[in-house]
Amino acid sequence: MMKMRRLFGFLLVGLLTATAYADKVFFFDKASAKERILSEEKEAYFSKHQIVELAAYQGREVSDAPLDEQRAEYKKVVADYVGEFTDAEKQALESLIVAVDIELKAWVPMIAGLQWRLLKMDNRFCSGFPHTREDFIVVPTLLAELAVHVETEGSGQFADFLKEVLIHEKMHVAQRHYLEKFDSIYKELWGFDHIEPVCAHPSFEDRLAHNPDALDYGYVTYLREQWYLPLVLYREGTSNPVMGKDFVSQLYLLQRDGDSAEIATVDNKPVRIPIDDEDYRERIPTIAFAQGGDHPHEILAYSATKILGYGSEPEEGNEEKLIALQKAMAAAFAETGE
Ligand SMILES: [Zn+2]
Repeated sequence: MMKMRRLFGFLLVGLLTATAYADKVFFFDKASAKERILSEEKEAYFSKHQIVELAAYQGREVSDAPLDEQRAEYKKVVADYVGEFTDAEKQALESLIVAVDIELKAWVPMIAGLQWRLLKMDNRFCSGFPHTREDFIVVPTLLAELAVHVETEGSGQFADFLKEVLIHEKMHVAQRHYLEKFDSIYKELWGFDHIEPVCAHPSFEDRLAHNPDALDYGYVTYLREQWYLPLVLYREGTSNPVMGKDFVSQLYLLQRDGDSAEIATVDNKPVRIPIDDEDYRERIPTIAFAQGGDHPHEILAYSATKILGYGSEPEEGNEEKLIALQKAMAAAFAETGE
């Protein structure tokens, strides 16, 4: 059924013109991009960075210079990474978005109705990982160039890869617009409670890896009568940390009191278990695990692309969970909102 819908989507693409899409896609120019990427007015980001991730982002050794200085220095570096889309890149990305929106509209019309806001950054920003901030998608230069390649040379494989990325990122944008709807899905399907964000323990705070798409540390999960917080940290003892390669995902035991919780410790050491806990995996789609996607926002974004048939086949045991998610999302995002 998914495959049929995709075929149907491709046939319809030709009927839509790019100009009809002018108000559906917004491209930041360089000046407004610079302002928005550095702004923390709506969402704190740069002010959360910790010493290990700052080293990873800049491809340098961990420094013991004062944290505020390191954060300020990094913002200067980021200002130089701001780019601007060429006309060819805009056209190529818009063609892909038209195709993606047809697929989303057939499944989750409310999400398809959201505007696409794209901001171009140098490949060195966030180690070249596409991601979102506030209501916009950060597109690394390489992806914009790949879109042009697909448009001019044609390549189904790369087109599918780009659509997969766009769908994944659109889910992160939708999570910010419709947080309550997503929260109820996370709770009903996967057993996540959403409480006040849990503060990191001082013993690992400097190693936190802040995922811009999953900055809310309030999603907690119940396992064998105890509450846990999934967290991604940089591995201990790395002097030259690398994003992704040096990530460690674990479940941290909590002491929960109603809507708040703190990290539980024994002898002042946090208690944690591996993220691939059997009871935990039993409940959630494990699609995001290989990519270090511990957070419900990531689990959902990766699952959404699988539901639409992108990327490799999901590993065994995921099918029923994906069907349940497909139905829950279809019900939650049924209206067009237009
Ligand atoms: Zn993501």
